[in-house]
Amino acid sequence: MFRAALTCCLWVFMLSSAWGQPSVTGVRVGEHPDKIRFVMELTEAPRYRVFTLPDPFRVVIDLPELEWRPGVDMPGGGLIAAMRFGLFAPGTSRVVLDMREPVRIKKLFVLPPKGKYPHRFVLDIEPISRKAFFAGRRRAPLLSSPPLAPPRAVVLAPPKPRTDDRPVIVIDPGHGGVDPGARSISGANEKDIALKYALELRRRLTATGQYRVVMTRTKDIFVSLRGRREIAQRHGAALFVSVHANNHDSHKIRGASVYTLSESASDAEAKSLAAKENKADIVAGIDLTGQPEVVVDILRDLVQRETMNLSKRFANMLVKDLGKVTRLLRNTHRFAGFAVLKSPVVPSVLVEVGYLSNRKEERLLRTPKHRQTIVGATLRAIDEYFSWQKALNKT
Ligand SMILES: [Zn+2]
Repeated sequence: MFRAALTCCLWVFMLSSAWGQPSVTGVRVGEHPDKIRFVMELTEAPRYRVFTLPDPFRVVIDLPELEWRPGVDMPGGGLIAAMRFGLFAPGTSRVVLDMREPVRIKKLFVLPPKGKYPHRFVLDIEPISRKAFFAGRRRAPLLSSPPLAPPRAVVLAPPKPRTDDRPVIVIDPGHGGVDPGARSISGANEKDIALKYALELRRRLTATGQYRVVMTRTKDIFVSLRGRREIAQRHGAALFVSVHANNHDSHKIRGASVYTLSESASDAEAKSLAAKENKADIVAGIDLTGQPEVVVDILRDLVQRETMNLSKRFANMLVKDLGKVTRLLRNTHRFAGFAVLKSPVVPSVLVEVGYLSNRKEERLLRTPKHRQTIVGATLRAIDEYFSWQKALNKT
């Protein structure tokens, strides 16, 4: 009898594991006079952690790593301005709801399958005043099913002691996971396009044998802006290249562009781009309230100045080489306060490979041929930069 039961259990277990990763199969939002009801349909009862964040107001739902079935749409409208879903950390998927007003979680429950309905995760959200939000925040506990552990930080092995003196180049594919970045005119995500360019750049750089290459991410996962800088610093990077693709309200604008850090932006366009790119952590549902201001001392300032000069030098080389193979935005090499470029010791540039909002350029950006062209020019600029450095060190 016992053995029969055990066999039966095993069988059930095998069946369920044959289904693979638990999935989200549907999302619904119901509007009621006093609340909205957010329902996620899933193949398994989920463990969860739910919390709210201010400025901008967000509801964040952490779940175990889940698959988002293709075709499941993120409805918006009403209180919810936008929704995102993606991998937040290894083992943790995250849903972020951007709210138009301060809200509180009124009710939260998980329903077992019934009739045609699968497992359901149900969240009732109600609007409250800003004052009530902040008053309640101190008291409101995190709503959590017990077993969901806090998201594991990405544990990176400490860099191996340097046995070779090749320069380390850190390639940073913009966005990722719950932060999709810009949306292209055909519905592709900036995070996926950036990753493809970055992986191609890694392949080409590695093939030269001249460099050690480190990536800030190699899959569709969120990495904070600060985390990206820290990876570069921990590896003693000689150069940091962040790869992005842009978008613009005017569909006519196209061309690649290169950016370096500056406290004062070179123009309004660069300033608004930096503001957009710096929102990545907010997009991913990170609480930025109460984070201490960066302390700037004189020494740090000096180092930063030298780093900025090196960044500018590389940016100029990159602009020149990109300009030979692709169309550039007018007055490219611009300056602005990009958070991801703020390492005081690592020369850093951010390249926007082109505009996802321009139909022609978007199509071009998705072709492997154009990717190789852009990456080829980037590789030439990197070679040129390090030859210059070598010559400089000899004198
Ligand atoms: Zn971007």
